[in-house]
Amino acid sequence: MAQTDNHSDEQNQPAPEEFDSKDQSPLHEELAEEILEENGSSDPPEQTIEGETEENVHLLPIIPMRGMVLFPGAMISFDLNREASIEALDHALEANSHVLLVTQRDKDTDDPKETDLYDFGTVTHILQVLRVPVGGLARVIAQGSQRAKILEYTRTDPFLEAYVYTLDEDESPVAEDQTTADPLSALIRLAHENFLLYADLSGKVMPESLMEASNCKTPGRMADLIGSNIPMKPEQQQHLLEETNCLERLKNAFGILTYELDVLRMQRGLYEKVKVSLDKSQRDYILREQLKAIHTELGDAESMDNDLESYRARIASGNYPAFVVEKLNQELRRLAHAGNFSAESAVLRDYIERVLELPWKKKSRENNSLSHAEEVLDKDHYGLTKLKERIVEFLAVRQNSSNLDSPIICLAGPPGVGKTSIAKSIARALNRKYVRMSLGGVRDESEIRGHRKTYVGAMPGRLIESMRQAGTLNPLILLDEIDKMSSDFRGNPASALLEVLDNEQNNTFRDHYLELPYDLSDVMFICTANQIESVPQPLIDRLEILQLASYTEDEKLHIATGFLMPKQLKKHGLKKSQIRLQSEAISHIIRYYTREAGVRQLERMVATVCRKTVKTLLTEERKSVTVNKDNLEAYLGKKKYRLQEKNEIPEVGVCRGLAWTSAGGDTLSIEVNTMKGSGKFKLTGNIGKVMEESAHAAISYIRSRHEQLSIRKGFYKDTDIHIHIPEGATPKDGPSAGITMATAMVSALTETPVNNQIAMTGEITIRGRILPIGGVKEKILAAKSAGIQKVLLPLENENDLSEINQGVKDGLDLVLVKTMEDVLNQALERPLLQ
Ligand code: ADP
Repeated sequence: MAQTDNHSDEQNQPAPEEFDSKDQSPLHEELAEEILEENGSSDPPEQTIEGETEENVHLLPIIPMRGMVLFPGAMISFDLNREASIEALDHALEANSHVLLVTQRDKDTDDPKETDLYDFGTVTHILQVLRVPVGGLARVIAQGSQRAKILEYTRTDPFLEAYVYTLDEDESPVAEDQTTADPLSALIRLAHENFLLYADLSGKVMPESLMEASNCKTPGRMADLIGSNIPMKPEQQQHLLEETNCLERLKNAFGILTYELDVLRMQRGLYEKVKVSLDKSQRDYILREQLKAIHTELGDAESMDNDLESYRARIASGNYPAFVVEKLNQELRRLAHAGNFSAESAVLRDYIERVLELPWKKKSRENNSLSHAEEVLDKDHYGLTKLKERIVEFLAVRQNSSNLDSPIICLAGPPGVGKTSIAKSIARALNRKYVRMSLGGVRDESEIRGHRKTYVGAMPGRLIESMRQAGTLNPLILLDEIDKMSSDFRGNPASALLEVLDNEQNNTFRDHYLELPYDLSDVMFICTANQIESVPQPLIDRLEILQLASYTEDEKLHIATGFLMPKQLKKHGLKKSQIRLQSEAISHIIRYYTREAGVRQLERMVATVCRKTVKTLLTEERKSVTVNKDNLEAYLGKKKYRLQEKNEIPEVGVCRGLAWTSAGGDTLSIEVNTMKGSGKFKLTGNIGKVMEESAHAAISYIRSRHEQLSIRKGFYKDTDIHIHIPEGATPKDGPSAGITMATAMVSALTETPVNNQIAMTGEITIRGRILPIGGVKEKILAAKSAGIQKVLLPLENENDLSEINQGVKDGLDLVLVKTMEDVLNQALERPLLQ
C-alpha cells in the first residue's frame, strides 16, 4: 500500500466495529444471478443518498490522507503532523473518537481544501494515540468502521468538518449449507483462493487478514479485504471504496487481484530464468546497471544520495553503540539499492528513523536524595503515610543493593486512590523521565515485543515505543493495569512482560521489529493493578505489592481542599479569592454526588464547579463566588446518590451484610422468606457462583444444627426458602456474605428478628466456622456511613483491624467472631441456642 505523510500500514482484523449498526437486508436474488450474465444487462440497484435518514447522518471531523485509502474493518497505523489533522483528531477524541478519513485527490497537496478531497471516505474509530513530543507528531492506531459520503462541509478552519452520510452494507452472508451451486459463493470462493495464492507468493499478507478471509461469507467484506491487502493505485482503491454495490465491488476487486497475481507469477518466472542463465557476478552487474538507469530516469538518484548523507551524518554525530552503527550501515546499504520510491525503501527509512530516534546512551542524572524523595511524595499527596514510608525504604534498599534482585513495586488498589500520581511523583523525585504504558486490553505478545519488520506496516512493541517517548535509558515506566492483560492464540503478553521485568535478562531485551538487543536494565518499572488476584501468578512473584485502600470521607475532604482544588484552580485560571468552595459543600459532593473508593469522581465534580464558576464570573460580571451546600445543586444538578440506611426496626429474615466493590465498601440487605412447599431453595438478585455456594454451605450448617437452633427436623423437605438480595442490577459475588445469609435464614426459620444496629461480614464453612474476608477497611467505612453501631468480623481478620487508623474505627463496636454461634448470639434479638 502507498505511504502517506504517515507511515501507514494495514493489518486487517476480524469483526469490524460498527459505527452505527443496522439490520442487514438480504441480498437480492437478482444480484446473484447477474454474475451469470456476461454483459451485465440489468443495472445493479444503486444506493441513493436521497433516502438518507437522520440516524445515518453524522457531523464528523475530517482527516485527509495522502496516497492511501482505509477500508471498513481494516486496522491502520499512521502519523499525523499537519496542524489541521491534529486539531481534527483532538476534536474527535473529545467527542466520540470517530473521524472520517478521506483520501486526497493529489497526495502532494499540503493544505487540502474541500475540493482536494474525494467525496467518499471511511468512518474510523480512533483506538490509540501516541504523542511524540518532538515536532508535534501524533501516532494513531485506528480501525475503519463504515464507508460514508460527505454531504456538506460545515467548517474548514481550524480543521475540516462535514455532515456525512454512512452507508449500510446491503449484504447478507452466503449460507453454508447450500445444496445447489450458487454463483455468488463461487465468486467469493474464487476470490479467497486467489487471495491465498497471492499471500503465499508475496509473503506480504498478515495472518489475521488470511484468517478473516477464510471466514468471510459476504462479497462486500471480501472486496474490502482485497482492497486493503493487495497493492494497487489509490485511485483504484478509492474506486472500490465508492462502489456501494457489494457484488460489483467484489467483481472489481477480483479483477485487480487476479491481475496482481499474474504479475507476481510472471516476476517469479523471470527471476528463475535469470537465475539459471547468468552467473552471479554477471547478474549483479546487470542488475546494478539497470537500477542505476532506473534511478537516473526517475531523477531520484541525487535526492537519495542526499538522504543517505544526512543519515550518515546523524549516525556519526549521535551517541550510538558500535553494534547499532553496524546495523544502521547495513540498512543504509540496502536502502541505497532499494530506490527512492519503492515499498522497501519506505520500510527501511522507517526502520532507520526509529533506531536513530531511540535513546542508546543518554541517561538523565538521577537524584538519589531520600529526603528529597520524601519531600516530593509529601508535597504531592495527602496521607498515605505508610505507603510513602515503604516507598522511601524501597528506594533506600535499591540504592544499597545491586539492581539485580530488587523487586518491582506494584501499587494495588481501587481506581482513583492515587496509584498513577504516586508513580509520577516517584519519577519526579528521582529526576527520571516518566512514561505510562497502559496494558489494559493487551492480549497479544507482539503488542509488547513488536512485529517482525517483514510484516507490512510493522512497528516496534509498546516497550520500545515507550523508550523512544522517554528519550533516556533510565526512565520510570508505569505498567498500568497489569491485571487487565489477557492472552489468546497470538501468545501470552504476561510472559513477555516477565522477561522485561527480569533484571537478569532485560539488558538484552529483544523486540521483533528492532532486531537489536536493547538494554532495559536501567529502567525503573512500577506496576499498578486494581485487583491483585487477577494478575498472573508468575508476575506476582516478581512484585512487591503495596496496597492502597479506599479513602475515608475525612481523607477525601482533605485531599479535595489541599490538592484537588488548587490543581483545578490553576487549570481553570481562577484565583483563590474568586471562589470559595465551603467544606460542607465538599462533604455534600462526597456523600451525594460520588460513590467511589478514590477521588476521581470528586476531582471531576470539583472541576465542574470551577468551570461553572468561570462562566458565572464572566457572564454575571461578579468578583467572586461562594459555593455552599445550599447552592450546590445549581452547579452539579440533582443529587446522584443517597446514603445507605440501616433497617428501621429489627425484622425477621432481614440481615445487613457488608460488601467490597471496586467503588469501595457497601452494605447489602439480605432478605429471606420461608413458605410451605416442597423444599425448594431459590436465590435471586444477580448472584454469582461463589455466593450461591456460600448459601448452600449456610443451609448445610443449619440442617446439621437444627436441634440446637430449635428448628423443626425435616424442615428442608416441606419448606421453600427464598433468599433475595435487592438492587438486582448490580452483580454480586464472593464468599463474604456467608454468615449474613445464614443469619437471615435462621431468623426466618425461627421467626426471630435480627438486630437492625448490626452489620456483618465473613465466610461460613458447613461446620459453622468463620473464615476471613478482604476489604475490611472499606466495609467498616460503609457500615459507618449507613449508621450501623456494631460490626461482626471474622476473628482471623484481627491483624487487618490493627492496621486501620483509630479514626476509622471510632464510634463503632467491632466484634470479632469465630463461629456461627457467636454470630447468632450477637445478631438475633432473643437467644436461640441451647
Ligand atoms: P489511580 O491511578 O489510582 O486510578 P490517580 O493517580 O489517577 O488514581 O488519582 C486520581 C486523582 O486523585 C489524581 O489527580 C491524584 O493526584 C488525586 N489523588 C489521589 N490520591 C491523592 C492523595 N492522597 N493526595 C492528593 N491527591 C490525590
